Amino acid sequence: MTPIRFHNTKTRRKEEFEPVIPGKVSMYLCGPTVYDRAHLGNARNVLLFDVLFRLMREIYGADNVTYVRNFTDVDDKINARAAQSGRAIGDITAETIGWYHADMDALGAMRPNAEPRATAYIQEMIDMSAVLIAKGHAYEAEGHVLFSVESYADYGALSGRSIDDMIAGARVEVAPYKRNPMDFVLWKPSPDGVPGWDSPWGYGRPGWHIECSAMSKALLGETFDIHGGGNDLQFPHHENEIAQSACAHPDGAFARVWLHNEMLQVEGKKMSKSLGNFFTVRDLLDQGVPGEVIRMVYLTTHYSKPMDWTEAKRAEAEGTLRKWYGILQGHGFNAKLVTALAAEGKWQADAEFIGVLANDLNTAGAIARLHVLAKGRTPEALAGFAHGLGMLGLVNDWDAIPMFDGAEGGADVLPAVAAKVDALLATRAKARAEKDWATADEVRDVLNAAGVQVTDVGGQATWTPGPDFDAAKLGDL
Ligand code: AMP
Ligand code: ZN
Repeated sequence: MTPIRFHNTKTRRKEEFEPVIPGKVSMYLCGPTVYDRAHLGNARNVLLFDVLFRLMREIYGADNVTYVRNFTDVDDKINARAAQSGRAIGDITAETIGWYHADMDALGAMRPNAEPRATAYIQEMIDMSAVLIAKGHAYEAEGHVLFSVESYADYGALSGRSIDDMIAGARVEVAPYKRNPMDFVLWKPSPDGVPGWDSPWGYGRPGWHIECSAMSKALLGETFDIHGGGNDLQFPHHENEIAQSACAHPDGAFARVWLHNEMLQVEGKKMSKSLGNFFTVRDLLDQGVPGEVIRMVYLTTHYSKPMDWTEAKRAEAEGTLRKWYGILQGHGFNAKLVTALAAEGKWQADAEFIGVLANDLNTAGAIARLHVLAKGRTPEALAGFAHGLGMLGLVNDWDAIPMFDGAEGGADVLPAVAAKVDALLATRAKARAEKDWATADEVRDVLNAAGVQVTDVGGQATWTPGPDFDAAKLGDL
């Protein structure tokens, strides 16, 4: 089995991955608060976890991987949106979840095995809060239930801060009912007009952090393998999740590996509404940027590095995909061919590709390996390349290999066209060998006019249809 290594934020080391239950993998990603369209930043860890999910399914088998991603559908931002718009909360959250699915589907992200909504786990959150009170880790004050950070010795271990540093550095909400300013809310009262549930502490609603502790326990157990989110969530959200879960279930280890992705920026600046550089995923899709291109841009940067969204990267990603899809089309890849290759045992992962990806999800390295594999000349030789594209989520439907304008008409047309281009390249090679530069230049001009992009590597010429590809201009040979 390919060894998998992750940089574990919890231990600050790169470690070899061993699942808690041999042969089974469990993973949890903090999902969106559903009141608005997902922005480009939100997509970053969705795509990271999608590649992780695909890698784990490849290595452990699809039935042995459980991926949970929550929807936060009870939150003051949602209440504010409802009050502002006069719409019902349930309508807003249902509509936003629909948008989220459509946008993430367009990016080729597989749906997780479970997508729990916080409002479906209120009882579990109440039960967990009651356990924390019973064990002396939480207290009730003025209709609130607060977690006592001083009751948990390791509070701050994930982000590496002491409670005193946190108080000095954070804008904490000082409330008279808090014993320590860092104590955080497990439950709070709901005034009229705000969603609420009955609880031992009165009518109210949960704080944000408790939902991930309660839902991961319900769906994955007290100890599970991998937990992720943006590094903006490390403190306080993940610190608080750990405190709640460790204190409620001292025999469990909660998440053993923590993966945190860096933030997305736009043209070198943090993406934010106030700078006017704020895009939603839907904005880009509506501008005609294909989901595969958006995805490819993300995967060219390692998740642990800040990532810039730039127009130049978009153009480069589109160029690469155009070339790669042209290769797949040229070799007639579709579901039938994939099945035939699988039957012959040829549809399999390239070991080097998997090895690179399994090394802390080095997606940029995996893409570099695909560039090498793309030089294969037969469907058999290209099987590892095509399989790798599927593993990165760049081809999800083999009968509809995504094509871009200009390279269209692919599957049926390309084999005939390919023969023509190959013949032209053979003529050029012969002319060059004979130092017949006039003929070589003439062929080059024809290929240029038709928009064929030729790459000469090690004496071998490969080609792809470029953005302005026009087979009619290849002439009659
Ligand atoms: P939110 O809906 O704000 O709670 O965020 C949902 C997820 O998106 C969390 O995992 C955040 O860490 C992540 N996230 C938010 N903004 C960015 C950003 N600019 N870059 C990368 N990830 C982000
Ligand atoms: Zn969470």
